[in-house]
Amino acid sequence: MTATIDSTTMIPESTPSEESVTLWVSACLMGESTRYDGTHKLFHHIPQILGGLCTVIPVCPEAEAGYGTPREPMHLSTKKSSPRLLTNAAGVDITEKMELWIPEAIERVALSRPRGFILKARSPSCHVQDSELSQSQHSGLFTQAVVRRFPSCVVVNETLLQDSAGWRDFICRLGCSTHTHQALLNRVTTTIWKRLP
Ligand code: SF4
Repeated sequence: MTATIDSTTMIPESTPSEESVTLWVSACLMGESTRYDGTHKLFHHIPQILGGLCTVIPVCPEAEAGYGTPREPMHLSTKKSSPRLLTNAAGVDITEKMELWIPEAIERVALSRPRGFILKARSPSCHVQDSELSQSQHSGLFTQAVVRRFPSCVVVNETLLQDSAGWRDFICRLGCSTHTHQALLNRVTTTIWKRLP
């Protein structure tokens, strides 16, 4: 089931900007019930701030690669030379589906001329490694491919977007037109911040 967005999280009415700023976002952060247990992690500030100003495209690597939802939880193992997706319970290597899906997906993403990515933290597919803060947690497999293919894009976890400072930094790094940049900053200024649970 997809999350219901209440009146405080509605996408604001506005005329879409002439500038095309395309961002890809983990589907579970957009309220799609794609997580391993069939739940979502709706992050209200994404539609609140970006709605009507940017093109936001949801992507769930694990669901789209064919693991199904719900699915057995998995983790990323980096013990071998190439990182592997292993099931949590039995440690079965289930990397192949993801390896098959990623090249096609990355080319589909490229067609959209992406400017940035907001991806779910602590996911074996979507996590973005912060080289300063979490040396022990490697980027997810989809994120690794994204960073390789789109080195000039802004790629962040939602955990960096919990307050106005995080959003301002993200927006500044997007390099939008003056109009879009200012409109996004205005949204940040009027946002009432709710931290993720
Ligand atoms: S974290 Fe990524 S792979 Fe996991 S449910 Fe969300 S979008 Fe899908």
